[in-house]
Amino acid sequence: MLDRYNRKINYLRISVTDRCNLRCRYCMPEEGIVLLSHKDILSFDEIARFTETAVEYGIDKVRITGGEPLVRRDIVTLVRMLAGIKGINDLSMTTNGTLLSNFATDLREAGLQRVNISLDTTDHERFAEITRGGDLNDVFKGIEAAVTAGLLPVKINCVVVNSKDEEDARQIAGYCHKNNLEIRYIRQMDLINGHFSLVEGGTGGNCTICNRLRLTANGRLKPCLFNDLDFNIREIGYAEAIRRAVDLKPECGSNNVTGKFYNIGG
Ligand code: SAM
Repeated sequence: MLDRYNRKINYLRISVTDRCNLRCRYCMPEEGIVLLSHKDILSFDEIARFTETAVEYGIDKVRITGGEPLVRRDIVTLVRMLAGIKGINDLSMTTNGTLLSNFATDLREAGLQRVNISLDTTDHERFAEITRGGDLNDVFKGIEAAVTAGLLPVKINCVVVNSKDEEDARQIAGYCHKNNLEIRYIRQMDLINGHFSLVEGGTGGNCTICNRLRLTANGRLKPCLFNDLDFNIREIGYAEAIRRAVDLKPECGSNNVTGKFYNIGG
């Protein structure tokens, strides 16, 4: 699929839930979140059928995200369904890692190829502060389990306020180096005010090569994270939503006043 700006669109990110077991300060408010009702959340069948259609249109890379994807009940079943779709060459997940030690082996066996784990500090107190109560040991265990299960390469997503020279980010660099993990530095973004920049170590944030579509947990297909445009796949149909999202994908991100990281999936 080529869009109006000749970009090849081959990457679908699927948010499977808006729920999360952490409350990272830059991502989710502590309270007052209006969660999707269960009937609005796409079923596994809907997600799999949509993905099949997307693959027919040229998607060959799929990432499962959230919210926290591992809090979605039976997530391994969805992974198995997606892994069974011929034409997906790269099936990955972005997770906070806290529950990964319980799931890594089953996910690998179900066909997940690799994981990105979000981690911004190796300091226990700072971690609890950033995530509002998370236990860093759970993430360390999750990372170990991912490596052991062969969910490789394990990449660490590290959100920085300004640069990778910040103390937390330097500690993460040391930890990744010691444990043979890849690292991506993501500068803290602001959807409402349209602040985003290049992801160091990854391809995100570069509009000229953006190859992404994003499916939210309630079935909105978004051509751009920094734009309010979305297409309801249940209302207009899977193929039509894909065609419109590709046709109308903006040349460059601007801002997004309706969406949040935790319901689009980053
Ligand atoms: N719960 C999973 C996780 O923590 O990786 C997946 C969803 S989370 C929304 C996906 C990614 O978005 C994470 O790497 C997270 O750090 C990042 N993220 C969330 N809010 C952000 C913000 N304001 N700026 C930059 N990245 C952000």
